[in-house]
Order: sequence, then structure tokens, then C-alpha cells
Amino acid sequence: MLADVRERIDRACARAARDPGEVRLVAVTKGHDAEAVRAAVLDRGHRVLGESRVQEWRPKAEALGPDVEWHLVGHLQTNKVRYCRGFALLHGVDSARLIDALEADGGRHGHVFPVLLQVNVAGESAKHGVDPAGLADLVARVRDAPHVRLEGLMTMAPYDPDPERARPVFRALRELAERHAGGRTSMGMSGDFEVAIEEGATWIRVGSALFAGATVEDPRPVEVDR
Ligand SMILES: *Cc1c(COP(=O)(O)O)cnc(C)c1O
Repeated sequence: MLADVRERIDRACARAARDPGEVRLVAVTKGHDAEAVRAAVLDRGHRVLGESRVQEWRPKAEALGPDVEWHLVGHLQTNKVRYCRGFALLHGVDSARLIDALEADGGRHGHVFPVLLQVNVAGESAKHGVDPAGLADLVARVRDAPHVRLEGLMTMAPYDPDPERARPVFRALRELAERHAGGRTSMGMSGDFEVAIEEGATWIRVGSALFAGATVEDPRPVEVDR
């Protein structure tokens, strides 16, 4: 649930001596319809939402109205670029071809696309993202594209039930972001967002933790004061 996620964000920020205002929660709504999103997130006062598929996003955005800040968190395909001017941030940009398509569409419509470059830090073959060695070239490509604005970097850690396994991935992304992209990062999901915050995440993308808590009992052990 939102209140629970907020509390976990606050605690992670306290551990890392960070201001919770520096961490933006993107509530990932994939697989949940407009009514579920309204009940779990919007009615509780949070209006920054993420969707991973453009096709799912369009009817949902229409149903939820204009008072929402939408982020595209998933991988973007070149042929979907023309639908993406309604997003406040594109988290999954990872190729020169895509940057060129965004630049062309932005140029035609007088629109600047704010983007994060997705980096495949862990080198997983099944994951999207540029490998770290190719990042500098992609950053240069964005800097040459007046209708695409680089806001930072994004990654997905390999799935692992132990969130500590994600820490080196998040730390590496943060270092790459400081070197190439102004230091800001989108990293951390339901299973590992606290570690991501400790490693400096600017945006966290949380889905299931926001929706599961509404119907399922909180499985975490009760904390005891010592
Ligand atoms: C689904 C998704 C998330 C949220 O994942 P949860 O584990 O449900 O929090 C974050 N980022 C991307 C790219 C996603 O596709």
C-alpha cells in the first residue's frame, strides 16, 4: 500500500541521510485498470504514475484525466514514439535508432522528450539497455539531438530474492550517471527500492508493493523496539 511504501522510503532515506524529497516514487500501474489505480494511488494523494506499455497506457490515461504525471518505464519501440509526447519522462531509451526517432518526432511537433538512457549494467543477455561501454556514444547522440533531453540513467537489476545482490548494480549505475549524465538515476522496484535509495536513486519504480498490500496481509515481520 502507498502509506507502507512511503514509510519504507522514509526509513531508507533516514539510513542514507537523504532528504525524502529527493526520491520520486513512480507508481507503476501495469496490469491494473484505471479504477484500481484510482483507489490504490490517486485517491491516496499520489499522482506520479508509470506504465510500461504504450498500448495499455492510452486508455488508462484517458480514463484518469489530465491531473496525472505519466512516466513510460518500459522499453520503447521506435514505431511507438509518436504516442509518447504525453509522458513526463521516458525511462527506457537505449539505442541510437530510438534517439533519432524521438528527435524526428520532436522536431516535427516542437516537442522536447525528457529521457533516461537504460543501461544493462549486469550484462544480462535478455535485458534491454546499452552496455556500459556503449554509453558514452549514446550520451553524445542525445546531446546532439535538440528535441531529446538527457535527464539521467535507468537500470533494472537482475531478479534476486536478496535485495543486497542488486547493490553493486545500483552503485555502478550511480557512478556511470555521475560520469556521463548529471548524476540522476531511475533504479529500484518493489523488491529492492530501499537498497536503490541507499545507493542514491532519484526515481524508484514501484508496482506490486503498492497494489498487493490492498488485498494481501503484510508479510513482513513486526519490528520490535530495542
Ligand atoms: C513492472 C515494472 C516495475 C515495477 O515492478 P514491481 O516489482 O512490480 O515493483 C518497474 N520497472 C519496470 C521497467 C517495470 O516493467
